Amino acid sequence: MDQDPDRLFPLFARLRGRPVLVVGGGVVAARKISPLIAAGARVRVVARALGEHVEALVSEARLEWIGREYEPGQLDEAWLVVVATSDRTLNARVAADAEARRLWANVVDDIELSSFQSPAVVDRAPLQVAISSGGAAPVLARQVREQIEVLLDEHVGPLASLLHEHRRLIRQRLPELPARRRFLESQREGPVGRRLAAGDRPGAIAALHQALSLAAARPAGMVSIVGAGPGDPGLVTLKALRRLQEADIILHDRLVPEAVLALARRDAERIETGKRAGQHFTPQEEIHRLMVHYAAQGLRVVRLKGGDPFVFGRGGEEIEHLREHDIDYEVIPGITAALACAAHAGIPLTHRDHAQSVRLLTAHCRDSLDTHDWAALAQERQTLAVYMGVSALADFSDQLIAHGRGPDTPCALIENGSRPDQRVVLTTLQHLPADAARFNVGSPALLVTGEVAALGDRLHWFGAKPLRHHPVHAVPAALASAA
Ligand code: SAH
Repeated sequence: MDQDPDRLFPLFARLRGRPVLVVGGGVVAARKISPLIAAGARVRVVARALGEHVEALVSEARLEWIGREYEPGQLDEAWLVVVATSDRTLNARVAADAEARRLWANVVDDIELSSFQSPAVVDRAPLQVAISSGGAAPVLARQVREQIEVLLDEHVGPLASLLHEHRRLIRQRLPELPARRRFLESQREGPVGRRLAAGDRPGAIAALHQALSLAAARPAGMVSIVGAGPGDPGLVTLKALRRLQEADIILHDRLVPEAVLALARRDAERIETGKRAGQHFTPQEEIHRLMVHYAAQGLRVVRLKGGDPFVFGRGGEEIEHLREHDIDYEVIPGITAALACAAHAGIPLTHRDHAQSVRLLTAHCRDSLDTHDWAALAQERQTLAVYMGVSALADFSDQLIAHGRGPDTPCALIENGSRPDQRVVLTTLQHLPADAARFNVGSPALLVTGEVAALGDRLHWFGAKPLRHHPVHAVPAALASAA
């Protein structure tokens, strides 16, 4: 692309008060002259005869007719030359003289002779859109122009002027650039734009003042990415609660139960963006779009996620997107399922005697299982907290046993952890898939494997007693009976 010899350099030139020579005085010349006059150029015309349009401009003293015959000396003061006669030889002569003086020349309908071209323009002054195909595809350029004409309603120009006239005030009321940018961005579709579209300039000015006071009075729109915890409203942090009570919009996962949503401000609009294994209710891109859409309007958006937003919650991706769109954000952590389920099942994730480390992992499909380092996961005296694992239990236990974890290793499945309907199934690695089926464990459920899981038998305190079909021991059965 950078090698393309026909590629033009786009330029907007300040012509106010500067002489521009136009050679030719017919309709074509007239068409070229009006934008020059609009830009404030001092247009001087050389022509044997004038058409009625140019004639009228001369009589209104909006341009000067400086002669009938072209002479090179007429180029002396000019900054630009426009050549619009039907005499090709004359056109070529003027172009050559201009070239010799390094003066930009446009010869109408002659790309070869022109050193500059005038683009197709969508005029919403002070906003102007100039389109050029470099002469390669004038029809396409015209189509594009028509599309843009439709896209930019007539009031865009007056809106740009209005905002420009009020720029001091706007800067003063909204000194921070992101807030100011969001304010300016929202004006086109807002009441100011609507008043201008209706031709009501005083009304638009009043609306602008009102919108400014509103924007200055309230903090700029932002997104709080909030962890809702496992579902017990008592496990929502104070900070999360505050955000829920200030929220204009709540974008929440399906995992977040009504009991937590009930903490939010009554007027907040709730949008469910939930996903469950295999079923996608809202594509991630749509969630991204909604967050930006609402925050850009100055609204306070809470993106509410089950557990913690940074544990298998795609919080990172959402932040990337907000950064790209210059939207302010914060992250409020929540109690992740592993912590909540372990606590409510009476299973310490680490224990001096049984487990020195804990790993959080996910096992919801073949792909996620294939990427694990099974040898490392199969080591003793460590706890695995497995998210989204209910559908892949057979593969999971096969792999761990194949890599050397004892078949008697204790496991706990915690369904609806921390909620009134919590169920805990205690089992061993070898019986895990069969017991999950036997007790019909459903989503959401978390799997805890490792020596510590056996402690749930004795330490449980919340909800129903753990379910068990086989004996479960913290240490291998042989050693336990020997002791
Ligand atoms: N960000 C969340 C996890 C989202 S992945 C967090 O930090 O907790 C969803 C998985 O979390 C579920 O498939 C399940 O394995 C687990 N989970 C979430 N809430 C749960 C609950 N109350 N009880 C059991 N498991 C839960």
